[in-house]
Amino acid sequence: MGKVVRHILGLSGGKDSAALAVYMRDKVPQMEYVFCDTDKELPETYEFLDRLQAYLGKPVIRLNAAKGFDHWLKMYGNYLPSSRMRWCTKMLKIRPFEEFVGEDDVISYVGIRADEYRDGYLSTKPNIKAVYPFKEGGIVEADVLRILEEAGLGLPKYYEWRTRSGCYFCFFQRKAEWVGLKERHPEYFEKAKEYEKYDSITGARYTWSQSESLEELENPERIAEIKRKHLEALEKEKHNNKEQKLFQILGNVLDDEDDTEPCLICSL
Ligand code: SF4
Repeated sequence: MGKVVRHILGLSGGKDSAALAVYMRDKVPQMEYVFCDTDKELPETYEFLDRLQAYLGKPVIRLNAAKGFDHWLKMYGNYLPSSRMRWCTKMLKIRPFEEFVGEDDVISYVGIRADEYRDGYLSTKPNIKAVYPFKEGGIVEADVLRILEEAGLGLPKYYEWRTRSGCYFCFFQRKAEWVGLKERHPEYFEKAKEYEKYDSITGARYTWSQSESLEELENPERIAEIKRKHLEALEKEKHNNKEQKLFQILGNVLDDEDDTEPCLICSL
């Protein structure tokens, strides 16, 4: 008998991978759905995954790294992860996924759409073969929204103020998203702040964002400035493309701030 091939769909907590799960549910009944849980995700993400799980009718398996973020932070000399040093993705997302796969032959379903040009994660392990059903099926963003609507799921709630899933303190956040975190989840903003350090001997700063600390960002004048600029950009974007939905406007505006691509496994 030939070796059994496993089918695995990694959910990020974002809209595209969720829509892919809905799209594949009846096509591949043996699918294993997994979510690499850093334990630092937003409550909206957990809530959305619970609803998705109910729709799928089978568990979304939570993969928690044996050692969590705080352990790895120490191991990396208290250097907060950044776009140049994405140790968090490696240790808390990719490694648990690869451990779950083991040496089995796996087809990994990736939700990159036909209307985007991102490259896939994902793993360099030779026993994992990535496939892209949305690309093959010509599924674009409007289809993703329709799929989620028709399944009764809609978008995860954080799309009202933030464009991507991932840890509440993710360094890929734009300024306006940090302000959103402070307003929607002040307790998480405080926790994120606690991770920032200043070494008075060396003068080194360990901050999530290179340009300013969260303490600097939460100055009321600075918040007002960030909100003003953000609103202006939203208005301009709305005016330039009247067909767009609110979250698309938000996405375009926030992506303009910074062109660093976040990790696919966290945000697809
Ligand atoms: S969401 Fe951001 S902080 Fe969390 S693991 Fe991914 S890159 Fe790191």
